[in-house]
Amino acid sequence: MKVPLLDLKLQYFTHKKELDEALLRVAESQYFILGKEVEKLESSLKEYLGCKYAIGVSSGTDALLLALMALNIQPGDEVIVPTFSFFATAGVVSRLNAVPVFADIDPVTFNLDPKDIEKHITPKTKAIIPVHLYGQSAAMDEIITIAKKHQLKIVEDGAQAIGAQYKNGKKVGTIGDIGCYSFFPSKNLGCFGDGGLVVTDDDKLGERLRIMRVHGGKPKYYHKVIGGNFRLDEIQAAVLNVKLPFLDGWSEKRRQNAKLYTQFFMNVGLAEEEGKLFFDEKNKVLLPKAVYKNSDVKNYHIYNQYIIRVEKRDALRKYLGEKEIGTEIYYPVPFHRQECFANLHCHEADFPVSNSAVSDTIALPIFPELTEAQLKYVVDSITEFLKS
Ligand SMILES: *Cc1c(COP(=O)(O)O)cnc(C)c1O
Repeated sequence: MKVPLLDLKLQYFTHKKELDEALLRVAESQYFILGKEVEKLESSLKEYLGCKYAIGVSSGTDALLLALMALNIQPGDEVIVPTFSFFATAGVVSRLNAVPVFADIDPVTFNLDPKDIEKHITPKTKAIIPVHLYGQSAAMDEIITIAKKHQLKIVEDGAQAIGAQYKNGKKVGTIGDIGCYSFFPSKNLGCFGDGGLVVTDDDKLGERLRIMRVHGGKPKYYHKVIGGNFRLDEIQAAVLNVKLPFLDGWSEKRRQNAKLYTQFFMNVGLAEEEGKLFFDEKNKVLLPKAVYKNSDVKNYHIYNQYIIRVEKRDALRKYLGEKEIGTEIYYPVPFHRQECFANLHCHEADFPVSNSAVSDTIALPIFPELTEAQLKYVVDSITEFLKS
């Protein structure tokens, strides 16, 4: 049985009629940049996320870059980021000639470990970028407490987490000073190319973000600040306007798939409950956990990725590949080991949790259209591997 990691065609063909109409509508209007589609999307997303300003931009990476520019991050300023994330989280800091300072992650949620933040704070630290990795909120209460104490700004990297909620029910991305999202095709809400969003509740920042999206000109051709071309185009916005009403349904399906995985792993005697246990001491397999350790309040994980930890990860990946099951490693190299950051002189020993995550995590298929039979086949194949 074939189980791809992601198959976007299934979603497209389900909504083909509305999507094709939306594309045609833009073609026939011949209006491509910052028009009605972007306006409509921004107003729908403002309502969906519950924030004051929602500004469509050219990608998730540009959302992060623009956020740091709006916060006036200067050369030499330090910004704390988890060492385990997609490259953009750290890359944008360096692009402003600021310094990304890496912190370790929590072993269960894979998100920034609040206990590891403060030791990296110096007089030059200006901001923290918590990433809501795989679709689950970072520990925002603890991060906000630290940020307040040291007067740091918080830019949330919610690229993988649009629609996810923190334990108080607030949507991630709307908790810090600026929130960033990506509409890259493989995210839960994906467009037909590149796209992103920045959000904030702050009037001054909202205004700055909007002006800096178009080179910083206001009125046009008069520049008090320097921005860039960070625009979302009408075609992408039109696609997103069609898809947005389905986002929560898709996320629910991903959550159900995660539940089914847990159920199937329990049925074969390899798990006790969600995120609770290693299958066995020999193989050390850990399921994702959608509940914070020290809290009985649930956060709303939207499973952009479903990650398990397995000691024999590379052998398992090879085995699943032979069985036509798609998997991926997110991410094989932490920032502190990247060649481009060698000048930062990081110490391996400072990041024990990330160091093990890069060698024992593996992403399993979790997209909404998967069938129960496919999910069972994945679990059965993993079981075969572990017991052989
Ligand atoms: C995808 C992603 C980004 C970048 O988004 P793009 O739209 O691809 O530029 C940034 N951070 C994280 C955590 C991501 O997963």
